[in-house]
Amino acid sequence: MRTQVTHPHHHHATRAAQALTVARRHLDDAVARETADRRDEARIVAAASSLQAWRPIPGPTGRGGHGDPAGRTVVDFLEPEVRDGQLGRLAGRTTATLTWLAGALALPTAGDPLPALAAAVPTLRPSTARHLARWLDEADQQIRDRLALDDDGTPIPGLRCPRCARRQLTAHTTGPRPTWTVTCTPTCLCVGPDCPCTMPTRVVDVAHIWGPDHPLTARSVSAA
Ligand SMILES: [Zn+2]
Ligand SMILES: [Zn+2]
Repeated sequence: MRTQVTHPHHHHATRAAQALTVARRHLDDAVARETADRRDEARIVAAASSLQAWRPIPGPTGRGGHGDPAGRTVVDFLEPEVRDGQLGRLAGRTTATLTWLAGALALPTAGDPLPALAAAVPTLRPSTARHLARWLDEADQQIRDRLALDDDGTPIPGLRCPRCARRQLTAHTTGPRPTWTVTCTPTCLCVGPDCPCTMPTRVVDVAHIWGPDHPLTARSVSAA
């Protein structure tokens, strides 16, 4: 049976991992476009320099025509080297951070570290989950800032927050059902055991977040 995780730090880490999963998917697409552009550019530069190097032999003897087909063949066969652009370097830095986090948590680091980190969240201590959520949120924000992506989540204007009563709840449902969460605004903080938020585990000063098994999450999805 799945261990029921009800701690808000775990929910935040799960939310952050799913958001970053989507952000990295967008980044991968952007890197592919960037690499294709840079390859085209490098080919044009290579073709231009090969054209400059071409020295036709003037004269009516007919020997002058040899250079042209040879030049084209060189351009076709020598694929220019394409280095990572800004987005490629951002993707590399993000993966390096995730690999480092997986290593720090003694997770298997073969393959992509993000799914391993996401899967490990329920096994972490709440304080560790809190740190992990911060790292993941920061990586997510860097990518979204760079690509001008909206923040993760779908607004649910139909429901009020049980704590602050504002209609500013957001559903985070891009991952599998057990990863779904609902959040209020980052400034709507829990006041602890007496908080009316109905979170099963109420921790002072944590931004409100309701997990996949909470009725509010089920209602939010149907109200979205
Ligand atoms: Zn609220
Ligand atoms: Zn609360």
